[in-house]
Amino acid sequence: MSHTVRVPILMYHKIERLNKASTVKGHYVSPNLFKKHLSLLKLMGYTAIPLSSLYRENAKLPKKPVVITFDDGYVNFLQNALPALKSVGYSATVYLVANQLGGTNAWDTSRGDVEERLMSVDQVLEAHRQGTEFGSHTLDHADLAAVSTDEAWKQIADSKSKLEADLGFPIETFCYPYGRKNLDVQKMVEQAGYRLACSTERGQNTAQTDRFALKRINVRRDTWAPVLALKLLRGDKHDV
Ligand SMILES: [Zn+2]
Repeated sequence: MSHTVRVPILMYHKIERLNKASTVKGHYVSPNLFKKHLSLLKLMGYTAIPLSSLYRENAKLPKKPVVITFDDGYVNFLQNALPALKSVGYSATVYLVANQLGGTNAWDTSRGDVEERLMSVDQVLEAHRQGTEFGSHTLDHADLAAVSTDEAWKQIADSKSKLEADLGFPIETFCYPYGRKNLDVQKMVEQAGYRLACSTERGQNTAQTDRFALKRINVRRDTWAPVLALKLLRGDKHDV
């Protein structure tokens, strides 16, 4: 990545109308608002690229790159986000929970949140055929800063090999569940063979940003298009 390029990475979860029973309402961005975000990005001159192409050698980055990420791999990505992304020629990167392909957000429902469906292997393959990149979000959406070293390694390394075996393509990037990590966890992610990892630290990325602690801009249900514009312009250092 060139030293002068500043790359925003957007973090979405669900592109779906609000389920009022949810305990994490902010994670629902409506399909209409998502379309407005995409129009705004176009208007601002951004080109969306998959995360892995950021640091690919000799990769020619667009003048204003943006990376659009979706955590957890909900079916509503395939239903609501992908058609909108394709209509503007954008691609995205989605983080999968390896033991829950075709399952549910069990890590949320165990804490009282509503159940949501996650993409099956066939659905992931369909989205992949349509240009979506996929990365790992551990085996079970584990809190890597809280579990033992052995368990953290299993969650990081085994999710990569399981996803690669189930899906048949390389898994090159990683995303820390809950944004929870420490330096040991970061090192394990590197040792397991990932090339990049997304955190939930706020801000934008330059050539100097740690490749295993990439910063993201949190996009929520109430992130109206002008607010997103402000986050992009200000670098999201301030909570706008
Ligand atoms: Zn997650």
